Amino acid sequence: MIEWPFEFQRVQDALDRRTMTGQEAAREIFVARRKHGPPWHWKNWKRTRVQFLGSECATCGADHEAVLVLQHTVRIPRVQPYLDNAKAEYEAREPAHDYRAELREECYAIRDAVIPEMRDCCPLCFSLSIQFRKKAATWICNSPVGRGYCGHVFEVPAKKEALTAAQKRSIRARKYMAWREKATNWDGDWKRGAILAWLADFREYLSLKHTKTLCKRCAFLEDMTDLKPCLECGFAFSRTETACPDCGRAVAEAHAYSAEGETDDGPTQNDDD
Ligand SMILES: [Zn+2]
Ligand SMILES: [Zn+2]
Ligand SMILES: [Zn+2]
Repeated sequence: MIEWPFEFQRVQDALDRRTMTGQEAAREIFVARRKHGPPWHWKNWKRTRVQFLGSECATCGADHEAVLVLQHTVRIPRVQPYLDNAKAEYEAREPAHDYRAELREECYAIRDAVIPEMRDCCPLCFSLSIQFRKKAATWICNSPVGRGYCGHVFEVPAKKEALTAAQKRSIRARKYMAWREKATNWDGDWKRGAILAWLADFREYLSLKHTKTLCKRCAFLEDMTDLKPCLECGFAFSRTETACPDCGRAVAEAHAYSAEGETDDGPTQNDDD
């Protein structure tokens, strides 16, 4: 198993504990993937792959004389198909619980629980946008009225019940927490399901269980084409052929063996111990 960077584990943990929404998870994964690049660029990739690298090519049998590489038999999972699938499934399902009305009620309750303080205001228009002018030792009202300003000048402000800036901040924070509580536990969060499924498959990919050892030439042929090299003459031909079109050599055990190596059951036989 190739250890994944902590960002991936953080998203996994947060989704498991339901402290992160699927949307947030998708964004974090996007950023983490861009930051770390593909796994074969990770520092620990080279170290770990050595433990899985066999001593001969699973396709042509080339041994230490060839450059051997570890080839995945499965592709690295892309995120988008998981999102597309989850969205399609979500849309085909019964509508998920709509928490917006409840959330609105909760937000009203949060607001109502806060007792406004008595604050200074303009005695004429009762606006809180008033300013004390030291030199003149009077207040002026800056509240917009029509096209201009109230502009009322006074010595003693009136008082009215109003929330302070700190109270407003605290209400905003509590409303946000109420939203998070709902959003992270929402049964219709299809992005959460998509990212969890992707993380599981990505982890499986990083396990290196679905790999085989190939020589560089066979790995190249497999990457670029659907071809295999002839064991006799090296001519590359389609795996559906039963004999080499160039030299006529019949396809023998080596091809059968390599076909076996491509099942998803696990690593090549060299990796067993
Ligand atoms: Zn080979
Ligand atoms: Zn005023
Ligand atoms: Zn041949």
